[in-house]
Order: sequence, then structure tokens, then C-alpha cells
Amino acid sequence: MAYTLAGRSGAWEVVVGLEVHAQVISVSKLFSGASAAYGGEPNAHVSFVDAGFPGMLPVINQECVAQAVRTGLGLKAQINLFSRFDRKNYFYADLPNGYQISQFAHPIVGKGIVEIELADGTLKPIGITRLHLEQDAGKSMHDQHPTKSIIDLNRAGVALMEIVSEPDIRSPEEAGAYLRKLRQILRYLGTCDGNMEEGSLRADVNVSVRKPGEAFRTRCEIKNVNSIRFVMHAVEAEALRQIEIWEDGGEVEQETRLYDPARGETRSMRSKEDAHDYRYFPDPDLLPLVLEEDWVAALKRGLPELPDEKRARFCAEYGIPFYDAGVLVAEQEVADFYEEVARGRDGKLAANWVTGDFFAAMNRTGKSIADPPVSAAALGALLDLITDKTINGRIAKDVFEEMVETGKPPAEIVVEKGLRQVTDTGAIDAAVTRVLAANADKVAEYKAGKDKLFGFFVGQVMKAMQGKGNPALVNEAVKKQLG
Ligand code: ADP
Ligand code: MG
Repeated sequence: MAYTLAGRSGAWEVVVGLEVHAQVISVSKLFSGASAAYGGEPNAHVSFVDAGFPGMLPVINQECVAQAVRTGLGLKAQINLFSRFDRKNYFYADLPNGYQISQFAHPIVGKGIVEIELADGTLKPIGITRLHLEQDAGKSMHDQHPTKSIIDLNRAGVALMEIVSEPDIRSPEEAGAYLRKLRQILRYLGTCDGNMEEGSLRADVNVSVRKPGEAFRTRCEIKNVNSIRFVMHAVEAEALRQIEIWEDGGEVEQETRLYDPARGETRSMRSKEDAHDYRYFPDPDLLPLVLEEDWVAALKRGLPELPDEKRARFCAEYGIPFYDAGVLVAEQEVADFYEEVARGRDGKLAANWVTGDFFAAMNRTGKSIADPPVSAAALGALLDLITDKTINGRIAKDVFEEMVETGKPPAEIVVEKGLRQVTDTGAIDAAVTRVLAANADKVAEYKAGKDKLFGFFVGQVMKAMQGKGNPALVNEAVKKQLG
């Protein structure tokens, strides 16, 4: 079912396109040798170029260009061997040059695709319009001094990729899924850390509404939303606002708005017309950017396996369901951890343990995949004990908890606590006999047709054996003795 919002006049469809600013992972800035590291003492990472001193010349940083090309390749996009930098002119206190160097008419990356997955498992392609390189601005702080504004230029000149989507997104959920997927791809590629709290990934959210089947209507752009949850809220709040305007007989005006998370509403910032004329022109200090095909091909060969491909491979290679594979590839470090556990073992068993007990232990202990509560090798050793029938699956859970607690290897715990699985059919038979004798009334009920009691007998036998009975053998013995 397509997502719609109900108005007085019927259903409304929501149309969204996102412009995402992703800070490039690089040692130095896009056009200067100053450090691109986050934070640091204010104005410590500023060269004369970044500070806009007269006569300073920008020099393109090849690594930033490579990062943009890698990202384009990861988005299955057209790489433009010819691109060009333009000056986007505007005045702002934290933009000392009075212009931002960006790419307007000739971006480095053209059309591409990001495939998103919705909660019901539906896959949907979202078109990428373009990706271009540009400089970030500095930061103005108005709350550090009673009468002055403070400017920190550390961020000025850091490379940004602006990634523009087609207006293919149709709901808050799709907007969220798109951002999550984009962030996942960037992280796999190592081209942006995707840290929205630190502002390395921020989204301008374009929203319009229309009656199903109609042409697009006027959109508004909500600037600089810095969390996925806020993007989803902003889409809904803005769509509801526009529906009300249309239904009251009004006209939505194209403008730039801000999202206020505290009030859950968007507010007008400036009308689009005011900001329109940036007087773009090719930056005379920079030659057009011309890439060699071989260089792009080498970058392509060097790409890591991306989430979609990894997911498909996990399904094929380890025989796990598509859903589980999606959970496991969500983060590259988790995928690597899983593979180390699964390699040479039962892939399904490994997936169940990683997404089940292991994830639970990570949550409970507050540990991360970089410093896991149990190492992949140790978890693998535990699975080996299950597979070679040293312990059963039930006991394995206790062993796992003990591993988390003590860091001891599973085999040691099994010996120490005497948890070895009982496969001696004599011992199992004796336990079954005892349990059936002690529950003569239930046995009678079972024989009278209450089949459900079978599980009860098995449970009682397991309990009598401190959980150590081999489940298959216990089942068999109970069945046999019940006749
Ligand atoms: P501009 O350069 O003025 O910001 P663009 O045409 O580049 O305008 O579009 C910017 C963003 O707005 C893109 O992500 C695009 O998908 C989105 N967009 C365009 N038209 C609509 C619309 N009618 N409703 C929602 N989003 C739209
Ligand atoms: Mg725009």
C-alpha cells in the first residue's frame, strides 16, 4: 500500500528529494594542506587559503577527488571524466572568500541508484541525480560571548560531497531508509564517517504533496536536518502543513525552512527567490578537472565489497535468509565478525548466534563490535562444541553467558562445570523411567489422547539431567517408553 496522508479532500501523496552533504574523509582540505580533522582548538586548522587571504591560490587535493569518484562508483553512478569548479558567490561571516568553490554545471558524478528496503521487505530504487564536490564553510557561534559572535574556520575548506536524489521518495519511512542506506554505503567505502551528530552528514529535505497521479507541485526545502529521525519527522510535519494550505484554498510558496525538533514543526527561513542568484562562474584559479579512464578503473578495482553484494553473497555462501543477511551486513565490522564465526561452520547456526545471544550480550554489556564481549574465535569454538555434540544448544547458552562473564574458553567452562552432553542411552532411559513413574497421572492423560504432554515429559527429563541430555536421544527415549 502506498503511503498517503488523509486530508478533508481525500488522500495526499508525499514527494521527497534529498540533498545530502557528506564530509569527505581526507587528511587535508579540498584546496589547502590544512588538517581536515574534526574538532581541535578553534582556528588551529586554517591555512591562508582557507582564511581567504588575498592572492592565495587553491590547489586541488587528489585524495578528495578519489573519494568522490569512489562514492560515485558505490552509487552505481556515471563518473564524469570532465568536471569543473565554479564560484558560488554569497556573503557570510564564516565564508571569508565571499564565495564557495563548488561544482554547478559540470559535477564530477552524474546519475546513479541507491536501492532501499522497507519494513515489509519491499526493495525500491531511488535515483541519484548527481554528486558534486564543494567546500564546507566555517562555523559561527553566537552563544559563546555576551556581545560578540565567534568564528571558527577549522571546518572552512573541508571537502564536502553534495549528493542529490531524484524526487523518488514517497514517505517518511522511505526518507529514513534512503539516508540509512546512503550512510551505510559511505561507511563501507570509507569516504564519509556518516556521523550525523558531528555534522559529517546532513540533509536538506525537499518536500511537496500532491493528489495521487498528479504532476509534482511546489516544494519547500528544509535546511540542514541532522538526524534520520528528524528528517522523517520533518517530512511528515511539512507535508501536513502543505496539505492544510492547499485544502484552505491557498498556494504553497517555494521557500527555505527550518525544522524545529522541540516543536515538531518547520518554520520559514527565507523565500527561495531571495537566495537564488549566486552568480556562478567558473573559478579562474582552477583548471577543469579531467580524469583519466585508467585512474577511475583502478579506483573501481580497489572498491571494497558493498552491502548489497555482501548480502547476496552471504545468502548464497552461508545459506542464510535474506533478512538475516541484511542485519549482518548493516555494519561492515559486524559482517566481518560474522564471517569469521561462520567460515567452515554451519552458516545458519552462526547467524542465529551472532544476531541472537551475541547482539544481546553486546547491548547488555555496552560493548562494541570493535571490543566485543566474546571474540569471533571463541564464539566459533562454542559452535564447534555444539556441532560435535559435546554440548547441546540449551547448555551452550549458559556456557556463552559464562564466556561473557569470565572470558574463559568454552571448552574449559564445559570441563569445569561438567556440562558435557549425555549421550549414554542407558542413563537417558533411566531418567525417562524415573520421570514417567513420578508422573503416572500425566502418563494416563497422555495415553487418553492429550498429545501436548509429550513436551512436558521431555522437559522434565531434561531437568532431571540438569539440561545435559542429548535432545534427540531424549525425545526418542520418551517416545519409546510411552509406547
Ligand atoms: P535546486 O538546485 O534549486 O535546489 P533541484 O532541481 O536541484 O533544485 O532540486 C533539489 C532537490 O529537490 C532534489 O533532491 C530534487 O529531487 C528535489 N525536488 C525537486 N522537485 C521536487 C518536488 N516537486 N517535490 C519534492 N522534491 C523535489
Ligand atoms: Mg538545492
